[in-house]
Amino acid sequence: MSTASTEFDAIIVGAGFAGLYQLHLLRDRLGLRARVLEAAEGVGGTWYWNRYPGARCDSESFYYSYSFSHELEQEWEWTERYPEQPEILRYLNHVADRFALRPDIQLGTRVVGAQFDAERQRWRVTTQDGEAFSAQFLITAVGCLSTANLPALPGIDSFTGQVLHTGLWPHEGVDFSGKRVGLIGTGSTGIQAAPVIAQTAKQLVVFQRTPNYSVPARNGPLDAQTQRETKENYAEIRRKSRSSTNGHPFSVAPEGALEVSEAERAARYEAAWQRGGLWFRASFKDIMTCPRANETAAEFIRAKIREVVKDPEVAERLTPRDYPFAAKRPPIDTDYFETFNRDNVLLVDLRKAQIDAIVPQGVRTGEAVYPLDVIVFATGFDALTGPLLALNIEGEGGVSLRKRWAAGPRTYLGLQMPGFPNLFTITGPGSPSVLTNMPIAIEQHAEWIADCIAHLRAQGLRRIEATEPASEAWAAEVNRAAEATLLPMASSSWYLGANIPGKPRVFMPYAGGMAHYARLCQEVAAEGYRGFELS
Ligand code: FAD
Ligand code: NAP
Repeated sequence: MSTASTEFDAIIVGAGFAGLYQLHLLRDRLGLRARVLEAAEGVGGTWYWNRYPGARCDSESFYYSYSFSHELEQEWEWTERYPEQPEILRYLNHVADRFALRPDIQLGTRVVGAQFDAERQRWRVTTQDGEAFSAQFLITAVGCLSTANLPALPGIDSFTGQVLHTGLWPHEGVDFSGKRVGLIGTGSTGIQAAPVIAQTAKQLVVFQRTPNYSVPARNGPLDAQTQRETKENYAEIRRKSRSSTNGHPFSVAPEGALEVSEAERAARYEAAWQRGGLWFRASFKDIMTCPRANETAAEFIRAKIREVVKDPEVAERLTPRDYPFAAKRPPIDTDYFETFNRDNVLLVDLRKAQIDAIVPQGVRTGEAVYPLDVIVFATGFDALTGPLLALNIEGEGGVSLRKRWAAGPRTYLGLQMPGFPNLFTITGPGSPSVLTNMPIAIEQHAEWIADCIAHLRAQGLRRIEATEPASEAWAAEVNRAAEATLLPMASSSWYLGANIPGKPRVFMPYAGGMAHYARLCQEVAAEGYRGFELS
């Protein structure tokens, strides 16, 4: 049990991009007594946990970063277009040091309970080690992708080799040389890991349930001139990012895919393919809204897969056909499809025969047993709601968040829930979060929360709570926004909770666009926090 103070103005759970910035704002701008509680033994969140081979960002370095400090953005040197995990982790550690955040971060502390004490009008927060804290405000910065999903496959404990999950990767690294490695999952993670594992493993068996559309990243070092120009133009880069739909500093083309000639369309896709990265999705304005437009992008990628993968049968198995391009979170890759031309790589199509069990010697599907030394689960996360529900939150009158969200998450602006006063969620369900370049979404939320708390203090108010009608109306708006796009058409997407057995199928993030959403949040505040009850 800690002897240090346990009474705070604000407790923040999580020390990734979100928790670090929220602490800086509340402590250094508002003068609050704030404490971050973090389960990991270090700061960095996603970049602390995800140390698998090939892990790197797919937002480009010059905008996958904080924008709040001019000095920080000028002094930090990014070395690559998409830096690897160690570099991003170094950056976040640098932020923790530069802003002297560490004294107010308690590491190795997993929060397992949070109850609202109506009498004291404070949150009581409990940890796995039995510590208890109390605070007027509780802010979850637990991340959207921080609860690893390890499928409950029968026999997993009987496996005689090593079992790994990419989101819980050993710090000492893993040597695959001479080993037979099974990789389950072909989302962004599996697609990044496969080419790197294949370089050293004796054999790599990729178990694929849903084939994925992937576009080359075209990673490379950043030269001195690019670095200088980026630093000179940061103000404009940030302005563009904030005024865009997805928090990226690039504009979506003003034309629809079917408004140009076939030759022009092909040329534009080819240029985007050569340029690499998420820009591909911005090639036409209607890729995410018009099925026929989307099909042109999907078909372009399918043709590329046929071109790259030498064995036509393997190419066909790798080809996504039954959902629109980018309706699942689009990955970008370095030599992913090329990897299947290697002699030591085998693709197993789980749509033909699913995994029955893990057996002592490897993975058994309905067709065969694959002998393995290591099984790597790249099976993703219980996204968005998973980390929040794991906090076992109980609001006013003991109402549990788990019960409230039994049919899917309900929030007001992804920031608050009725019945849970003074509890704020950074990038919660119902906010643009995972549909954006996340530092932009995180900064917007952390700043809105800090401004809100400053407002309460200035007005001598003690509590804020989203109202039921506002939350109901927002749920309808979240549905409307999703339905206006092709996003709900990928039935196996984690955006819908479809990757977790038994999870309600609800489209969780807000698809109405980052800039539009940020304006709404501003208006809500300017109108005296419309939809919230302040007292
Ligand atoms: P996180 O970084 O997830 O941090 C949350 C922290 O909360 C974690 O450290 C966790 O340990 C802690 N925590 C959770 N529950 C508890 C608890 N109960 N008690 C105590 N502590 C707790 N986004 C992009 O925009 N661009 C990218 O290129 C990109 N690449 C990604 C690559 C990978 C491999 C993954 C997994 C995600 C990627 N993301 C990317 C999304 C990424 O999660 C966000 O960009 C960002 O890092 C999220 O920051 P965060 O602080 O909100 O959450
Ligand atoms: P994911 O997108 O959820 O992919 C998980 C993969 O595992 C899918 O192919 C899934 O198949 C498969 N899978 C899940 N359960 C399975 C089971 N029981 N049997 C067989 N296959 C199973 O997870 P992720 O790849 O870790 O990515 C999650 C998110 O993190 C990304 O979408 C992205 O937002 C972020 N991320 C970003 C980057 C980056 O490049 N910057 C890298 C990694 C992650 P189905 O598709 O059929 O469900």
